Amino acid sequence: TKHVGRNGYHFFQPSMNTLAQTQLQLLNDLWMALEREEFRLVYQPKFKAPSGPVIGFEALLRWQHPYQGVLSPDVFLPLAEKTGLIVPLGNWVVDEACRQLSEWHKQGHTEWSIAVNLSTLQFEQSALVQTIMDTLKKHDVPPDKLILEVTETTAMSNPDESVRVLTELTASGVKASIDDFGTGYSSLLYLKRLPACELKIDRAFVRELSNEGDDATIVSAIVALAKTLNLKVVAEGVETEAQQAFLTELGCNTLQGYLLGKPVSAESITAQGNKFSLSDSVI
Ligand code: C2E
Ligand code: CA
Ligand code: CA
Ligand code: CA
Repeated sequence: TKHVGRNGYHFFQPSMNTLAQTQLQLLNDLWMALEREEFRLVYQPKFKAPSGPVIGFEALLRWQHPYQGVLSPDVFLPLAEKTGLIVPLGNWVVDEACRQLSEWHKQGHTEWSIAVNLSTLQFEQSALVQTIMDTLKKHDVPPDKLILEVTETTAMSNPDESVRVLTELTASGVKASIDDFGTGYSSLLYLKRLPACELKIDRAFVRELSNEGDDATIVSAIVALAKTLNLKVVAEGVETEAQQAFLTELGCNTLQGYLLGKPVSAESITAQGNKFSLSDSVI
């Protein structure tokens, strides 16, 4: 017996292997989740090195699953990307992040920016630029307070197109950040042409960071490259004071990581808003 789901997907097929069944169940749940508004954003602060002030937040997606608890993007993003669900979901993320930022701006935190992650499929949508412009206008957010994080891999998968899209976006004031830098294969020629404002060094390099050794060499090289290209450098995944000190010494402009601040709910940031605005209050 086979039932046709509400979106026309077939599931609960007895012959199907468990993994496929789980994936179909997940896909069905994902569509429902968007309808039922089970997604939410958490926000991780970005600090001016070494310890503040907070210059803005990165919005990170969570799924409050009805019976599995809070799910991380790693669990559902690949499927959302494969099936195209990421497009409406990604649009929701941009909308919700801008709505939240406008709320914080109204509370007086007008210096804060918001960074949103864009998936490859989302980045390839022809409607992307218009959608983002409309969302900024809807929430009355200054374009230069929105940072779009695009991974190096996404940006380099079709570099000419990336240059075109990012040029269009940044022309209207929006900022672009090259995420997970160092894990992809950048053409330096294209990197130079990409109108980004910052590079985010992938967590893998930060994790292994000690005073000597290969990974310090890589971080130094990325910082040097970024300076040459007039880009700021963000180090993510900062977990220890040693990493914080070393990354600052190496010339990273912005630090992000569990040491300085984990991703938290908007409510929690609103409640601590004034603390986040003070430069000397970071623990
Ligand atoms: P990412 O953009 O590289 O985000 C950083 C990830 O590292 C986040 O995981 C964050 O919670 C985690 N992180 C931050 N600081 C530390 C630290 O000090 N130590 C460790 N171990 N981890 C840290 P998260 O939230 O699970 O997100 C995973 C990935 O999912 C993100 O990687 C991003 O690629 C993707 N993602 C998250 N939200 C969205 C979204 O709204 N849209 C799209 N397209 N992708 C998203
Ligand atoms: Ca990111
Ligand atoms: Ca990253
Ligand atoms: Ca990553």
